[in-house]
Amino acid sequence: MRILVTGGAGFIGSHLCERLLNQNHDVICLDNFFTGSKDNIIDLMDNHRFELIRHDITEGILLEVDQIYHLACPASPVHYQYNAVKTIKTNVMGTINMLGLAKRVRARILLSSTSEVYGDPKVHPQKESYWGHVNPIGIRSCYDEGKRVAETLMMDYHRQNKVDIKIVRIFNTYGPKMAENDGRVVSNFIIQALKNQDITIYGDGSQTRSFQYVDDLLDGVIAMMNAQNFIGPVNIGNPYEFTILELAKKIIELTRSKSKIIHLPLPQDDPTQRQPDISLAEEKLNWQPQIQIAEGLPRTIEYFRTKVLAG
Ligand code: NAD
Ligand code: UDP
Repeated sequence: MRILVTGGAGFIGSHLCERLLNQNHDVICLDNFFTGSKDNIIDLMDNHRFELIRHDITEGILLEVDQIYHLACPASPVHYQYNAVKTIKTNVMGTINMLGLAKRVRARILLSSTSEVYGDPKVHPQKESYWGHVNPIGIRSCYDEGKRVAETLMMDYHRQNKVDIKIVRIFNTYGPKMAENDGRVVSNFIIQALKNQDITIYGDGSQTRSFQYVDDLLDGVIAMMNAQNFIGPVNIGNPYEFTILELAKKIIELTRSKSKIIHLPLPQDDPTQRQPDISLAEEKLNWQPQIQIAEGLPRTIEYFRTKVLAG
């Protein structure tokens, strides 16, 4: 198949391009390099099945493809808040452009939505049937509400134009190839620990997240893309939940760091808890995460150790 990956030079997108090439597909990676980098895909450049297009999805594009993994959107709060209006445009205009393309060439399209559609959840753990608790006017809204509209657009193009869609709600994911300046918690803590700098916990560290390793996510996303008679939305995440303070301590221990923990103000609307209910993915996709943090964190630390040592 010929497969388009929007956001293909980003953290998840670059792993996905590599996986799809290994499955002998032709892969078109489309990216505007806002948070993605050529470093992430440099090893794929020699593969004759790989093509790279520098393009911004807020502008239309016509390509002949069979499947579209629509990932383009900055995912770290630091980056999606840097130009909030652009984040909304990417989610709304970008998703309309990709749905228009899917409609025109009859491609199947998968949206990488997010656990953030549940906002600061009042239901725990979160099932797909929960409608969420999202602030529509806060500093996270450009992303949370942007993804909610993207989901709405997917469903409306499906109902109105019979576009073949899939919606995946991704929970916090980590692994090699996260950008050093990404700003999300796992990469921040690992880099701070490796440099023996202070570990910056926002708030008291009692807020929880559930982190999945990127390889598990890819298994789930690819299974969803190729599933029959199931459009989602489906949660893909690791249900093992722990506090941000526990994460900091674990990373200090694994890196044998001399770093101290310091506390900085908690950002506005920072969700207090998050854990996926993955029973739907288990039932429909026969999917479960396989890599726990005891295995995934050391792999990620090794990646960043090479990067940090390389300067
Ligand atoms: P990332 O920031 O590393 O990658 C996003 C990519 O999209 C980058 O390469 C960026 O340059 C590109 N991009 C952004 N705006 C674009 C535009 N207008 N046109 C073209 N390209 C554009 O983030 P990631 O962690 O790889 O996330 C990928 C997708 O998965 C995003 O849609 C994100 O919302 C979703 N997601 C990620 C997580 C996570 O924990 N990593 C959790 C939930 C959802
Ligand atoms: N966080 C933190 N220190 C950091 C970066 C993040 O304590 O250096 C916290 C953040 O406030 C949040 C959690 O870690 O409670 C996860 O943040 P991240 O940005 O990784 O993801 P998201 O909030 O989007 O789940």
